[in-house]
Amino acid sequence: MNRHKVVNTCYFGAILAAFVLSLVHNNKVEASTDPKDYFAYLMESEEDAGSVTIIAEDTEEVGDIVSGESQNNIKEMFDVVDSMVRYKNVEKELSVEKGDTLISLLKRSGVTRDEANKVYYSLKSDFNPSSLRAGQKIKAIFSIDTQDDTAPAELNYMVIEINAGERVITARNHDKFETFVEQDELIDKTNAVAGVISGNLSGSMHNAGVPMRAVNNFINLFAYAVDFKRDVKKGDKFEIVYESRVNNNDELIKCGKIVYAGLVLRNQKITLYRYEDSSGNVDYYTASGQALKRTLDRKPLAFRNARISSPFGRRLHPILKKHIIHWGVDYAAPHGTAIYAGGDGVVQVAKYNGGYGNYIKIRHNSEYSTAYGHMSKFAKGMHPGVRVTQGQIIGYVGSTGRSTGPHLHYEVIQNGKRVNPRTIKASTGENLSGQSLVKFKQKVEKVNKEYVDAFSGKETKKVAQK
Ligand SMILES: [Zn+2]
Repeated sequence: MNRHKVVNTCYFGAILAAFVLSLVHNNKVEASTDPKDYFAYLMESEEDAGSVTIIAEDTEEVGDIVSGESQNNIKEMFDVVDSMVRYKNVEKELSVEKGDTLISLLKRSGVTRDEANKVYYSLKSDFNPSSLRAGQKIKAIFSIDTQDDTAPAELNYMVIEINAGERVITARNHDKFETFVEQDELIDKTNAVAGVISGNLSGSMHNAGVPMRAVNNFINLFAYAVDFKRDVKKGDKFEIVYESRVNNNDELIKCGKIVYAGLVLRNQKITLYRYEDSSGNVDYYTASGQALKRTLDRKPLAFRNARISSPFGRRLHPILKKHIIHWGVDYAAPHGTAIYAGGDGVVQVAKYNGGYGNYIKIRHNSEYSTAYGHMSKFAKGMHPGVRVTQGQIIGYVGSTGRSTGPHLHYEVIQNGKRVNPRTIKASTGENLSGQSLVKFKQKVEKVNKEYVDAFSGKETKKVAQK
């Protein structure tokens, strides 16, 4: 069930109850009606129905506690009450527009400047109203005068989402406002998802409910072992076990680490398990403790299907119109596509560099460096001396420098000489041994027992029947 709806119904109910009380207090009911009678009537009906939930006008919602005749009676009662009540609560979704302040937003909703100010000052200690962003949606309940279009609206209740699972609520208390912060209880979960790949891998994983962040991490894990365009085919399978933090409505708050990743391809199965050693180093290993072979990424782009627009080697230069050697590989990709560090290393150069445009060079080890040209911009914090890890975003595809369109110019430099990025076989990563291997194998067994074995549960059953 959608929790928002429940919550809304709840605060709607609470507000209406409060509102009814305020009617009695403030004498807002029409002069011809005695508010005491009205209140007594309500109390009586409340006793019949056994709950104040009858405030929900939608009789389907209260079908459990009232039915048949009494349901009709209540409906009638509501018609009567409705015609008596001059001030009605309406729930609205306010949309923050560019240049809006909280005050301008409330004024546009019919609230007086004075009241908007009160809301502002009530809110200020828990939430900075100037941090509202264009496009943000705010839920609010207003009291509206049904007999006078020109009367200002009164704000009764307002909910601003601060973060996922956290919101600030401002509620009317007579002619004042009170603000408080409400937080969902967060639950840590481990999720196991497996599925068949149809179309592309990331789409298939996302459709199976894996959050994009985990999908991207999964793909980055395999980027060195698998050529997604060539090796992964329709009908192949993926398996993933990942951690997450959700609110009590099962909405994702934080996507955690991948515990296990598997790709079942036509002719091979690749499985990787996360392991953190006693000094806190994290890496992924096969079930037997072999390190994931981390070759330099051949195509360090978020757009894994990017095509080569110009290969490494001799070519006719499109701008200079003469044969020269092309010292890298060009990948055509949409402007703004994220560019990854091809391997772990240290940034050596990050600056505008003539024909290269915005350019970054990373030193990986004594043997290898990589370079990236024509970026539209660098990622935050890219300066010489900064440490980067493989797959980390270092910049974005552009067309700066000598370039005819958005693409990444990617170079791999081995011992000072530029080599073809498509044919490199450099690998790093140590296999587990000794005590680490023992601990790792215990962990693998546990993860398999709890999650991974179930992925092939059907097959196991078949075998057992034989
Ligand atoms: Zn190039």
